[in-house]
Amino acid sequence: MRIQAAVLERPDGALTSHRVRIETAELDGPRDEEVLVRVTSCGVCGTDRGCLHGQEPYPTPGVLGHEGAGIVEAVGRNVTLVKPGDRVVMGFPFCGVCRNCRAGQPRYCEHGKELMFGGYRLDGSTPLRRGDGEPLAGRFFQQSSWATHAVALERQLAKVPDHIDHDLMGPLGCSITTGAGAVLNELRPTPGSSIAVFGAGSVGLSAVMAARLTGATTIIAIDKDERRLALALELGATHVIHGTGDLDAQVKELSGGGVDRAVEATNGANLVAEACKSLAMLGVCAMVGGAKPTAEISLNHPDMLLNGKRLIGVMGGGGQTPAFHLSLMELQAQGRFPLEKLVRFYDFADINQAIEDSDSGAVVKPILRMR
Ligand SMILES: [Zn+2]
Ligand SMILES: [Zn+2]
Repeated sequence: MRIQAAVLERPDGALTSHRVRIETAELDGPRDEEVLVRVTSCGVCGTDRGCLHGQEPYPTPGVLGHEGAGIVEAVGRNVTLVKPGDRVVMGFPFCGVCRNCRAGQPRYCEHGKELMFGGYRLDGSTPLRRGDGEPLAGRFFQQSSWATHAVALERQLAKVPDHIDHDLMGPLGCSITTGAGAVLNELRPTPGSSIAVFGAGSVGLSAVMAARLTGATTIIAIDKDERRLALALELGATHVIHGTGDLDAQVKELSGGGVDRAVEATNGANLVAEACKSLAMLGVCAMVGGAKPTAEISLNHPDMLLNGKRLIGVMGGGGQTPAFHLSLMELQAQGRFPLEKLVRFYDFADINQAIEDSDSGAVVKPILRMR
């Protein structure tokens, strides 16, 4: 079928050249385990921008977009979980059969990297071509949903309940779940505890909203952008630190000696060492933000050992799709997880403006509307 897709010709590196261009493309129908989704909205995430700007690898020409939501149009022969007309969010892809998938840890699918960044199915095929027949890397996170239609894996879909606005929920496919899941699935702050969130973008602010749902009584947000810190306070932070100077000393002062939990949610700033330093004894730091492939961390050995500190990597919030997505949708509908406060909607045609506003930090979470 003929669709419209935002094609990335090559990573722009310098951040100045043309970005993506909406073209007419050809999309094949779904295979047996796949679903054709008419995309109605898709978020712009730090990972899209990482690939766009050449900091994270993605083959080109290709189509990005991995926070897609929409309406099922057709299903493959073996699909049982959804039917045409269902409203869905396209979450993280996973193979479903590797050791970690079978152990209930789909975020750590052994094929995860390839499924997310490979640009193709695991067998090397793509359902997407340019008008002239040139293949497009059309499987970013197995969805490439900066397009009017996408073919995704059945197992990566979460069905959206009737009373919930699915167009707001695409970012649950990545950034929102990454921040909220790190707190609710992994760090699990106890009543009266403290947590510091480094980076107040969509991931960090989602961590703040999640922390507010726990018994944590000290929630510190750290960022360089005053507007985001103001939003963090509105969303539940009890304190904010304008991100300059001696961050760990400031966190320690606000928390009376160190925090029980920390989330490193910067996209590339790599404040993992500062986050670990800011922990109290027996504290746990979750690193969740993206970084370039060569990024390193340097920690003080005795500080980690003698204080029993732990540093964990948490991919995509851990946990399971779609159960966790569904709980966040219900919490949003109840007004307890106000992710709509992070969002600004754009017409699909204005995609480059949305990217620019995300790059500049003017908008926390742009969502493109395809209809
Ligand atoms: Zn797997
Ligand atoms: Zn993402």
